[in-house]
Amino acid sequence: MALISAESLERVKQAADIVEVVSTHTDLRRQGVRWVGLCPFHEERTPSFSVDPQEKLYHCFGCGVGGDTIKFVETKEGLGFAEAVELLADRYGVELEHDQEDPQAEAKRQKRRRLGELLDRTASFYAGFLWDSDEAGRARDYLRERGLEEETLREFGVGYAPSAWDKVLMRGQRAGFSVEELRAVGLAQRGKGGGEYDRFRSRIMFPIRDRRGRTLGFGGRAMSSDQGAKYVNTAETDFFHKSHMLYGIDLAKQAIAKAGRAVVVEGYTDVLALHQAGVREAVGVMGTAITAEQVSALSGMVDEVVLALDADSAGQEAMLRAQRVAAGRQMRIRVAAMPSGEDPAEMTAGENGAERFRTLVEEAVDLPAFQVGLVLDRTNVTSPSERDRAMNEVAPVLAGMGETASRDDLVRRVAERLDLEPALVMGRVTAARPLSGRPQEPPGQGGSSAPRRAAELTSRERRERALLAMCIALPDDGKEYLARLTDEHLSPAGVRIASWLREHPEDPASNLPHEDDELAGLIAELVITAHDEPASSEAMEHNYLLLEQRRLEAEIAAAGKAEDYERRAALSRERAALVQRIAHAERVGG
Ligand SMILES: [Zn+2]
Repeated sequence: MALISAESLERVKQAADIVEVVSTHTDLRRQGVRWVGLCPFHEERTPSFSVDPQEKLYHCFGCGVGGDTIKFVETKEGLGFAEAVELLADRYGVELEHDQEDPQAEAKRQKRRRLGELLDRTASFYAGFLWDSDEAGRARDYLRERGLEEETLREFGVGYAPSAWDKVLMRGQRAGFSVEELRAVGLAQRGKGGGEYDRFRSRIMFPIRDRRGRTLGFGGRAMSSDQGAKYVNTAETDFFHKSHMLYGIDLAKQAIAKAGRAVVVEGYTDVLALHQAGVREAVGVMGTAITAEQVSALSGMVDEVVLALDADSAGQEAMLRAQRVAAGRQMRIRVAAMPSGEDPAEMTAGENGAERFRTLVEEAVDLPAFQVGLVLDRTNVTSPSERDRAMNEVAPVLAGMGETASRDDLVRRVAERLDLEPALVMGRVTAARPLSGRPQEPPGQGGSSAPRRAAELTSRERRERALLAMCIALPDDGKEYLARLTDEHLSPAGVRIASWLREHPEDPASNLPHEDDELAGLIAELVITAHDEPASSEAMEHNYLLLEQRRLEAEIAAAGKAEDYERRAALSRERAALVQRIAHAERVGG
């Protein structure tokens, strides 16, 4: 796929209804020219999320996120720019046209496409082999014994890799693929003697697919104990990173969006069994611990994840890790502790299994509560030193929760159990450093510099933003002020906004820089403010003069530092005259 043409990009932007798009994630109601609602990116009780239907922009005055319709889809669905445009084009019936692109990128895409085809073909081969060959009879028996039905296995494309050393290698080459290509996708590997052979042999094969259902790699389960590792996965390749993938996401994504949460389990067969039992929002992490990339992939889709992992110590460790990787994200992580010795596949295969599992998920407790519970359960409360140790362990967990009602509940629980005054427990919590670095904060939209909330701005920054918003509201005056404003008047963010406005005087919001989240968010904020807040030439002049005063003060300080007293005196006189003008303007303006 080459670059989407500018014309069709424009058509998509025109066709997409931002109110409708946002409304699938939060309820909006009309308020004057805007629509407002609870922010879908951070937790809040009073709405600070604004949508401007004319400019097709959104901005949250609480956590600072913002952008256009495409940015919203990118962030909320966890998609790249092109994918978000495609999704909107689909939804609003816009035919996308593409520009020609440079041959190198095209060649790379061609290569990717070929490798994708090779993986898909091989997945079909394995699946066919599972159902049709005598050799796979034992594998079919094993899967049947685990309670997995043919329909489920076919849906997930489960297959079987033959025992021969070169079946896939030969087939691939006959179909026109090179040995290098087979190696690039992790299907062939080189032996000690230098020859190539199939990486997967005599194994039940689980194709690992991306969100769009494209096979990127495999997990292979051994059929006998003398085969070495029980599970072998595709080695890391250029485009297969196991730690980024969620097994079953292609089949689970709709149910996840609908349920508003994902259920995360450990193994391939757990995912299959749960889907078969109707728990369609289940995905697998293919390892004990969930990774930051997996949390990130999910945080675009949902704000709640239920971990259904083994209750054993490895599982507990995995849950603690989850806490760390979720730190700083707006993601609620709950824990459904599996009864020891039972995994989700075994549970759902048993009597009323699906129901038991559903109950477990419904009753899942928040991760911090789960951790605190673990500590309290292990503590011998009759021993003062044990109680002290328990307090040390739970304080950082509680500190990481931020100031929430559920934290207060937990504090009371800890106090009761350890026989301490709640105030004393709370004192320890406030003194503790949160386990996860920082307490819950609203999410950034990628990039290192998270947007800052209005309350965190300095008075100078607030003034500068007010003036820049008025430059948008009153473009004729705006042009004049944008010419008068220098970099010395502005904060670094202000400098970037001003130069954007100088370059896009007519329509600052129509082509937000999608590769620059921070700037796009700032522009969205100012355009929405411009529509909403009163603007006047007088107010602009007033704000400008105050910024000018700040600039002069900085210059006076610099002159003093350089021991240029003459200059300092001249600047001070200038400042005094300015202060008088400001005072006069304020009296006149009332
Ligand atoms: Zn927000």
